[in-house]
Amino acid sequence: MTVQQMEFKAEVKQLLELMIHSLYSHKEIFLRELISNASDAIDKARYEALTRKEIGEAAGEWQIRLTADKDAGTLTISDNGIGMTKDELIEALGTIAHSGTKEFLRAVQERNKEANPELIGQFGVGFYSAYMVADRVTVVTRKAGTDAGAGVKWESTADGTFAVEETDKTGQGTDVVLHLKGEEKKYLDEWELRTIVTKYSDYIDHPIVMEVERKKPDAFDKDKTVSVREDEVLNSRKAIWLRDKAEISDGDYSEFYKHISHDFNAPSKVIHYRAEGTSEFTALLFIPEKVPYGIFFKEFKVGPTLYVRRVQIMEHCEELIPPYLRFIKGVVDSSDLPLNVSREILQSNRQIETIRKSLTKKVLDTLAELKKDEPEKYRSFFSEFGRILKEGIHYDFAKKEQIADLLLFPSTKTEEGKLTTFGGYVDAMKPDQEEIYYATGTSLDEVRKSPYLEAFREKDLEVLIMLDEIDDIIMGSLREYKGKKLKSITRGDIKLDKEESSAASAKEGKETFARLLAVMKDILKDEVKDVRLSGRLRDSACCLVTDEGGIDPNMEKLMKAMGQDVPANLRIFEINAGHPVVGAMNAIVGDETKKELLSQYTEMLYSQALILEGSKPRDPAAFAKNLSRLMTESLSKG
Ligand code: ADP
Ligand code: MG
Repeated sequence: MTVQQMEFKAEVKQLLELMIHSLYSHKEIFLRELISNASDAIDKARYEALTRKEIGEAAGEWQIRLTADKDAGTLTISDNGIGMTKDELIEALGTIAHSGTKEFLRAVQERNKEANPELIGQFGVGFYSAYMVADRVTVVTRKAGTDAGAGVKWESTADGTFAVEETDKTGQGTDVVLHLKGEEKKYLDEWELRTIVTKYSDYIDHPIVMEVERKKPDAFDKDKTVSVREDEVLNSRKAIWLRDKAEISDGDYSEFYKHISHDFNAPSKVIHYRAEGTSEFTALLFIPEKVPYGIFFKEFKVGPTLYVRRVQIMEHCEELIPPYLRFIKGVVDSSDLPLNVSREILQSNRQIETIRKSLTKKVLDTLAELKKDEPEKYRSFFSEFGRILKEGIHYDFAKKEQIADLLLFPSTKTEEGKLTTFGGYVDAMKPDQEEIYYATGTSLDEVRKSPYLEAFREKDLEVLIMLDEIDDIIMGSLREYKGKKLKSITRGDIKLDKEESSAASAKEGKETFARLLAVMKDILKDEVKDVRLSGRLRDSACCLVTDEGGIDPNMEKLMKAMGQDVPANLRIFEINAGHPVVGAMNAIVGDETKKELLSQYTEMLYSQALILEGSKPRDPAAFAKNLSRLMTESLSKG
């Protein structure tokens, strides 16, 4: 049989370098990682065995076995799970970099690992962590359902290459043989291994078995003892979600969470409950602390792991949670689903529907509690996941008010670093205020200085500030909160003056400026839908607003970035009748000698409005040139 020598992928090489030369603490986590892989492999085989009996029969009892060989200096972790084919083996252990690798490398490089010994323990660094304690690792594996001749052997001293050859193997599954480094021989010691297993892998569903030596009284002579070797199960095996909450420590929850999520951080919130009645199930859910890399991509796998009576059916069951809660991790163990549920059945299953409703309610209730009881923690949750959560307003009609209650925003009245809510806003509304005002934009600073706010500031009206690109759509779906309409201040007409006198002066204004408006409209006819006098401006000369029902500029940018066609969407150009430049322009309307000048000024005003809304003037060069010319003229006049 031929031995194939192959190169590790560059990232894997880097990872191995680190494992060998830089990581000195928490080395014992290698065992957690290898046991976790063995457990995953058994879960997969057990699931296969539901439809292919021979796989279960070949396995006998599912188990993970630790074998410490003191003479050879090896520790072997064996499982009778799914195993790997040659191609799978080459991929999994050498040629593809797995999910956490990049983040791990970055974190280790960024921080001083000597000063942060805990860091290492936080990472699910996977199979390669074996090289923290071994200088050579041999993997012998055989895919479930194949015969004894189909085994494959992998071996590497982590020198940049690995060797693969075909071999015989009795029994399906995988043996990982660690040739321990001289100074790491303590991992052959029974008590050491037992302690590590209890600490990190106690909840593993499958028995972790080790042959141990025990002294027993001699059957013939009571005064003597004899040594016997017997198998002992090291873990308590109780699926953590089925255990009594009172018995479970935060540390237990964290370990389990890290095992299922491959996250490096502890979860920020644990939700653990049992539902009885129409549908019986246990749920153990986690809210992560940080947005996992990739969550915004389509390929990102979401949903808790689905178990039926402790048998794992599916790792990511997306039918169990609505998309706007896709950051939730965890386990759902149902007592009443059939074991052979398939994806197709799941999509139209009433039980699943009931479970999803229950989980949704529970998560939203938990978030509401968190917001009330631990505002700081909730804030950091919201800054990570708020953008995803608010999608629910658009997609889940029944829950939109409840989700709206969970949103946080800065406003024109919040202090530096503080946020408000719809509830807080409504409580502070002026007695005669009927609408909830909001402004969208890309940065807090930009919105705070924006001309759209001038009239609101003058009238001391609070305006919520929304900075996510999707906010405009979300608010469009929400429409109102507690009977108060939501009103975008960059959209439609704004009439803050209710008094008779100002209505009269508005009418008068319209007449005075009628010709100017008409001329401007003609000049800008391809650019804007209308030119009108503004009800929202005080100090600034002009601004652009979106028509009621139109697409706002942020949304337009987002749609373009996503490669979508954006419908023609002309905006409305508003000018401030009270501004001197507008007054001066009005004075030259009709003066044939100033016609060209008026046209130029109109263009310049329009360019300013574009800049103010965060867009570019349509002819930046001409704008800059005109501005410079005006500056020169004004300076030379003294
Ligand atoms: P992860 O478990 O996060 O995928 P690992 O580095 O721990 O990353 O393992 C890499 C891959 O190697 C696994 O995804 C799996 O495909 C394969 N693998 C590792 N150990 C086993 C095993 N005992 N049985 C079957 N496959 C395994
Ligand atoms: Mg793993």
